[in-house]
Amino acid sequence: LNETILQYQITEFGFGDRLLVARDITQLVRLEQTRQDFVANASHELRTPLTVISGYLETFLDQELSKPIARAMTQMQIQAHRMENLVSDLLLLSRLEASQHIADENPINIHRMLRTIVHDAEILAADKGHTITWEADEEYDLLGQPQELHSAFSNLVFNAVRYSPERGQIDIRWWMDQQGGHFSVKDNGLGIESIHLSRLTERFYRVDEGRSSSTGGTGLGLAIVKHALYRHGARLTIESQPGKGSLFSCHFPVEMLTKIAKS
Ligand code: ADP
Repeated sequence: LNETILQYQITEFGFGDRLLVARDITQLVRLEQTRQDFVANASHELRTPLTVISGYLETFLDQELSKPIARAMTQMQIQAHRMENLVSDLLLLSRLEASQHIADENPINIHRMLRTIVHDAEILAADKGHTITWEADEEYDLLGQPQELHSAFSNLVFNAVRYSPERGQIDIRWWMDQQGGHFSVKDNGLGIESIHLSRLTERFYRVDEGRSSSTGGTGLGLAIVKHALYRHGARLTIESQPGKGSLFSCHFPVEMLTKIAKS
């Protein structure tokens, strides 16, 4: 517990000369650990009271109520549901931040996973008239942690649905090449100005607060995507043009793919 954590940096000057700088980052690491523990504990503690509130609201809404009370109760239920989503995203994010690698890896059939994600996205997109297309190579499984990858991929797909005005076109693809496995989500929606791109995966960073709060997200979606991918040795790239649309792509190293045995 009392050990010192040092960070080393080596600078090469040519002719074999090197400068080694050691920085004591013990305080920094401890503070970060305290922050992570606090968020995890606070989220955990908020969970039970929220479940109780939601349960009672549901029971009350089943009764005969006057219009104004029913309206107020419905609003309370919507907000309680938002808080539940926020708490579960906070818990997931703190779990993802707690370690740099996944503990165990399972072969995941991405084709099957995408079928369920697209099905959910179609329900979410029902009143917007979007066209969603998807293609998924079935030759390889991806080695990884299913819940984390499901969260990452569904966040990208649901964002495409939420940040596209009516009758948008959303294309989802999973394919392999010599560099590895690639998952991409392309939309022709609102797009994002380039100044925002480098900060999008920060917790609660939003391009337009007004626009985002009405779409029902928690502000943690892309932070979850980034951490989940990082733990799989994968990386995220974002290309976007305001008014034209966005392309979010995840790149997985070859080592994370495993050929599906044909029976
Ligand atoms: P949330 O959507 O809950 O606000 P996210 O972390 O998922 O949080 O996304 C961060 C921000 O990135 C969003 O608020 C939105 O401004 C922007 N964004 C994400 N995906 C898209 C997209 N497909 N098109 C346009 N903007 C997007």
